[in-house]
Amino acid sequence: MSAPHVHGWCPGALKPMMSGDGLVVRVRAPLGRLSQEQAAGAARLAERDGNGLIDVSARANVQIRGVTPGAHPALIEGLRALGLVDRDVAAETRRNLVIQPFWSEDDPTHRVAQALTNALAHADAPDLPGKFGFAVDCGPTPLLRGTSADIRIEHGPDGLLVRADGSDRGAPVTEGSAAEMAIALARWFLDTGGAPEGRGRMARHLAAGATPPETFTAAPMALQGREPPGPGRTETGQLVALEFGQVTAETLAALAQRAPIRLTPWRMLLLEGVAEAPGLPGLIHDTTDPRLRIDTCTGAPGCPQGLSDTRNLAHALAPHLPHGRRLHISGCAKGCAHPGPAPVTLTATGPNRFDLVRDGRADATPEATGLSPDQIKKAL
Ligand code: SF4
Repeated sequence: MSAPHVHGWCPGALKPMMSGDGLVVRVRAPLGRLSQEQAAGAARLAERDGNGLIDVSARANVQIRGVTPGAHPALIEGLRALGLVDRDVAAETRRNLVIQPFWSEDDPTHRVAQALTNALAHADAPDLPGKFGFAVDCGPTPLLRGTSADIRIEHGPDGLLVRADGSDRGAPVTEGSAAEMAIALARWFLDTGGAPEGRGRMARHLAAGATPPETFTAAPMALQGREPPGPGRTETGQLVALEFGQVTAETLAALAQRAPIRLTPWRMLLLEGVAEAPGLPGLIHDTTDPRLRIDTCTGAPGCPQGLSDTRNLAHALAPHLPHGRRLHISGCAKGCAHPGPAPVTLTATGPNRFDLVRDGRADATPEATGLSPDQIKKAL
């Protein structure tokens, strides 16, 4: 199995990443929300300057795919007019927040997320690594524990906590002090060598022996978080799942006509205030749909490192996936779609050839090698 290439930085809108199908332009929507005008505009731009395909990433960002370098300046201009681009690359890189999507206007999640956004926009905010991010998850029970983040602001047993990812304790804070404490914890991470050469993650820093100051270990975290809900009606609106995390510009434009859209890190969109599931192509409304149990990355030809097509295989395997079983299909050993272990992982090793790993990550030792799609169906 060849070693995957690690970029060590995250693409943004101003610093896009070249992929097999063109530039990937990642848009960090302010507070994880697109107004109807912004969603319609992003759909229009994805059609005009990209290939009309849009991903929703595991950190609730929108990725416009298939942009040619020549079209990038016009795309940025269009996104800027919609209020979807930061003033420069540094500000864009720092504003790496995932927000629990069921907030209501002026509740703790909304207020803390706004305060943290403002704090990260200051010129003297810490210069954090590209992959370093914050989770603002201040509802009664944490919902974002399964989402990658380095500093978490969540409810503990006795109020809000700012917690380093990888620690089971945090600093008790108030709504008013949460953003400031999160920035202080980020500074501690940098000052104690968490990001040599500009790269690093909090959990890895702690695992290597770094111990946060006492302030940040004063209170225990809540014992349990909650699993995110499946598609369907919620108090905030309709949750719709996207087939393998992707939506066409056409479907996004149709959704924009219905309601403002909140982005989730669960391959779902939350349509504010909508009660009925919209019948549009590529949306999943049935919680038992097997496509919801398959994680797949872009794969070939969209990703230059992809050794095989992954999405067509995911389509073909969905009807054969046993009830309740989860599957991860990875175009190479990097495992972008599901970095942790999965019950079954298929790692591409060549065109339509996959290694099968059980209870491991995409780069783990496989149980079987070189399987064709037909052999995989039997193995499932
Ligand atoms: S895991 Fe998929 S998306 Fe990630 S680098 Fe490999 S082929 Fe590309």
